[in-house]
Formats: sequence, C-alpha cells, structure tokens
Amino acid sequence: MRGSMDAKYPKLANRFSFPKLCFIHCSRRRSERSCVIFVILTEIEESFPTIVRDVPTKLDMTGLISTHKTDIKSMHLDELRRIAQPSYRAGQIVDWLYQKRVSSFSEMTNLPQILRQQLTDNFSFGKIDVLRVLGSKDTTRKFLFRLSDNNLIESVLIPASPALYGSPSDRRTICLSTQVGCAYGCKFCASGLNGWKRNLRGDEIVSQIMAVEAATGERIDNIVFMGMGEPLANYDNLMRAIQIINAPWGIGIGARHITISTCGLVPQIRQLADQPLQIRLAVSLHGASDDVRSRIMPVNRKYSLSALLEVCRYFTSRKKQRITFEYILIAQVNDSEKQARQLAKHARDLEAKINLIPYNTVDGLDWRQPSPKRQKEFLAILRAAGVHATLRREKGDDIAAACGQLRLQTERDLAPPLLKSSG
Ligand code: SAH
Repeated sequence: MRGSMDAKYPKLANRFSFPKLCFIHCSRRRSERSCVIFVILTEIEESFPTIVRDVPTKLDMTGLISTHKTDIKSMHLDELRRIAQPSYRAGQIVDWLYQKRVSSFSEMTNLPQILRQQLTDNFSFGKIDVLRVLGSKDTTRKFLFRLSDNNLIESVLIPASPALYGSPSDRRTICLSTQVGCAYGCKFCASGLNGWKRNLRGDEIVSQIMAVEAATGERIDNIVFMGMGEPLANYDNLMRAIQIINAPWGIGIGARHITISTCGLVPQIRQLADQPLQIRLAVSLHGASDDVRSRIMPVNRKYSLSALLEVCRYFTSRKKQRITFEYILIAQVNDSEKQARQLAKHARDLEAKINLIPYNTVDGLDWRQPSPKRQKEFLAILRAAGVHATLRREKGDDIAAACGQLRLQTERDLAPPLLKSSG
C-alpha cells in the first residue's frame, strides 16, 4: 500500500507520512473519493491500529466525502492542528483568518507553498457579499448579504444601547441570522413567510460579523442571535460558530456577550444548559398562556408553556444567570391585563427579565401594535409586580429591521436575473 502511494506521488513521498499521502490522494481524486477513502482507511486501520488516530479524522472526512469542501472558517484550531503540520502552522492559519483577516490562502505568506496548496485543494475560502446596506452610522444599520448559492440573509448592527441584552455596557451589537428563512411559522414574523430554505454553515454565521466589521471599520462586541431563523434548530453549526466567535484565537468575544434567542425548542435549551459556555438565553415568549401563545406561535403546540418554563428553570439553575423573556406587544392578541399578570408571575418565578417590544409592522400581515398608552400600562403591571421589565421601541423599524423583512422586500424587488446570475 505504502509502496503504491510512493510510486504515485514520488515528489511528495519523502515529505509526508503515509496517512497524509492517503489524504492527499483522496482529495485529488475527488470523483472516486468515497470508495477510495473507505478502502484506504480500512487498510490503514488494519495495518496501523496505532496511527489511525493521526489520520485526518472527522473533519477531513467531511471535506472529502461531501460534495462541497469544508470552509476554512468552519474549522477550529484543534482540528487544524491535526492537518497542518507542524501544529504551530494551525496557529498561523487562524492568525491570518481572524487577526489579519485575509481573504485567500495565497495571502498566508508565512505558510509553505505546499501547505497553501493543500489548503486550497481541501478547503473553500467563502465570503459573503454585501448586497445592500440600509441606515447610517450612529443609527441601526441593516446589511443584506448574498451567499455563494445566491440565498439572501440579513444582519443588523445596533449602536451603543445600554442594557439592550445582557451586560449594561453593550456597545456595538450585531444581530445575526442562523438560517435562510425559518420553519417555525410564528404568525407575526417575516422570516418564516417564505418558509425555511436551509441552515447556515458555521462559516456563514462567523462571516456575517467579519463582513460587517470590514464594511464599517468598527469592532463588534456583542452578539445576539435574533436575525433570520431559529438558532437552536441549527444547533451544531451554531455552536461551531459560537466557539470560533468566542475563542481567543478567533473573534474573541466573551460568552456573556453572546445571546441566543429561541422560539422555545425545549430539548435544545436543555442541551445549551449542559454545555460549558456561559452564553445568554433569550426566550421569545409572546404569550403568557397556552391559548394565546399557540395562536401566534405554532411551536407552542409541540412544546407547551409549562415544558418551556420548566426547561428555562433548568437553564437558570445550571447557568446561574437570568434569562430574558421577549414579549412582542400585539394589539388585542397578547396585550390584556390578564396576560400581563400571568407574564409577571412566570418572570418572577424564574427571576427572568422581560423585554417588551411593540410589534413592528410587516408587509402583508394584519397585526398592529397597541397604543403607546396601552404599552405603558402593560409595562406598569409588570413593574408593579416587582419584575425587571423594559419597553423598547424596535430600533430600526424605519429600515425594516425586524427579522426577515429586508430579505423579503429585496426578494420581491430584485429581478430574478440578479438573484440567479452571479455567485
Ligand atoms: N427564532 C428566534 C430568533 C429570531 S426572531 C426567536 O424566535 O427568538 C428574533 C426576535 O424578533 C424574536 O423575539 C421575534 O419574535 C422578534 N420578532 C419577529 N418579528 C417581529 C416583528 N414583526 N416585530 C417585532 N419583533 C419581531
């Protein structure tokens, strides 16, 4: 086996170990790779049970077997260490990616040419294009991105805003998307109006931050996953991205400055509670009883309010941190005094904070926000019950900043050829 590999790649044979030669071989012969990799790995395992651990493992396999290359910005440092030898090369790669922010392997000039070639052969170096920016500096700015497959996603950059989510020192907060579209069909939300298309990959999540920082020259220090999609329905890619966002070798944003917002996926909230990072949790409650919540959030029929509140309690106990309930105020749907009192009770029981958000009008949907007087009354009931609650005017509603709106507008406005042509 070794002999035949040496013969096939005489120039590489004395530079690379046998497993690496196999890896190179497989990546070069992409058309045959699934079957070749299977045969080779079986043989390696049989002949070298001890070195098989050094064979590029899980991620390399993903890259080889899937039809697409893994994007380099989906890779963690420890995974890169397994494939870029000596292992300090991995540190150089992430330095180029996240500190120097280069946009191609060829710019990684302190890497040997052969490694740059290997990276080019085995990984993609994706980038997302800014298609539109709405808003201006010092206001909320909305970014519409085109992905490599022409799908559109949005991120929103929110300037300094005391205690918006989490810490009182929020500076520049970015609201990130995690999916193209959304499958949960909340009745008031634009994101799910055209259904769910696909999950974003880890690199596409991370790239939103990098693209906004590149476009604005500003450093982002707070992340909220409140853009398009349900973050916890894309759990693995989300956590992969969060680890890169959080890592000192990556974007370097502390876990307590990262908030995940969910419509209430109970099993994944439990999973989040059990993982080690101190990420913050915001729960889109929007109804304080099952009847009201089920009317506007179909997910409540799957995970009832009591199941949701129970898992919130579990999260709070595991993480020793307060969660936030988001509550959109919609006229004559969830803005009654009774709802306010029930909501106050749930929040008090869990020591949760409440963020009231007046409903932001979405084209094609009939919901309305309550009058300012009604909004304030609702807030007063919560506060009178001793709950920490804020009422915030949805920043950027003038630029269609509520999730999914800009994408929908743009998909309607843009002629199909633009969406289909480049990429
Ligand atoms: N799927 C996640 C995150 C995306 S939505 C979740 O449900 O939490 C982020 C927040 O924006 C949610 O609280 C959502 O309910 C809210 N939202 C959606 N449409 C809105 C609208 N039209 N006006 C105000 N808030 C809206």
